Amino acid sequence: MAYFVGIDLGGTRIKIALGDDKRILITRNVKARKELSFMSNIRIIEDTIKVICEEQKIMFMDISSIGFSFPSLVNNELKKVISTNDKFNDAKEFDWVEWSKSTFGAYISLENDARMACYGEWKSGAGRPFTDFVMMTLGTGVGTAVIMDGNPLVGKHFQAGNLGGHLTVDYAGALCSCGNRGCVEAEASSTALKRLVETHPKILESELKNRSKIDFATIFDLAESDLVALEIRDHCLDVWSAAIVNYIHAYDPEAIIISGGIMNSKKIILPYLREKVGGLAWSPWGHVAILSSELNDNAGVNGAFLMAKNEFEKHERKKIKLR
Ligand SMILES: [Zn+2]
Repeated sequence: MAYFVGIDLGGTRIKIALGDDKRILITRNVKARKELSFMSNIRIIEDTIKVICEEQKIMFMDISSIGFSFPSLVNNELKKVISTNDKFNDAKEFDWVEWSKSTFGAYISLENDARMACYGEWKSGAGRPFTDFVMMTLGTGVGTAVIMDGNPLVGKHFQAGNLGGHLTVDYAGALCSCGNRGCVEAEASSTALKRLVETHPKILESELKNRSKIDFATIFDLAESDLVALEIRDHCLDVWSAAIVNYIHAYDPEAIIISGGIMNSKKIILPYLREKVGGLAWSPWGHVAILSSELNDNAGVNGAFLMAKNEFEKHERKKIKLR
């Protein structure tokens, strides 16, 4: 029996799924230690896989293939991390193929986290009906990945479709962590909220001035009764609408699928975006569907598991051809 492991390494947690060719048998979440080296996190991953293998009475060496979702740009052909964003920096020197081979005797597929989540959503979530869609994840940053013509969009340097959080929506806007100004992420993400609140001209009239923790849940809750929260909420919705119009004009998708904890407020977000984008996007064939993710936080680990299975099947097909 062939077994597969999907791993989704995030900034705060690691998700691991173990399963066979029919389904995922078990998933486990552990804390990621981004203050430690990538190698220390690899040890945490190995230990967790060991524990769940023991629980399922599976040997390490029974694992045939591993899918790994990494939170930065990745060369999925050479299986190398191209660039990191101030966390897990030693991953650039890591030999993924050697690790999976010597530790598990397994194949490995490595992919950028947004693309892996998009793949999971495409194969087993809200993306199933589509050959062309953009997945947009709203959170600390804004991440995107694209399925185009029935394939994940990758590009010459492996970054096509991944930088949707860094499309410019205001060329004179706020400075972004990427060095550009007025990126989607700099204008409307959890990271941008602090600035939006502190610099609002009517902040002294708002309940927000008394809040120590300001996140999107706070903004959306308070927007019912607080004018400043309402203006910040609508500013963010307008920034995301502008971003989605750009995605539609760039990628010609059938759908935009949005994920992130913020989608707890999808009853407000989806109708707003549908109306705004519907009036702004140039799509003479009709309206692009704007939907909520079905897998949400589990899209990445699902994608990694399915990618592991795919990699195994690809090698098995090759073996049959050579026989
Ligand atoms: Zn940027």
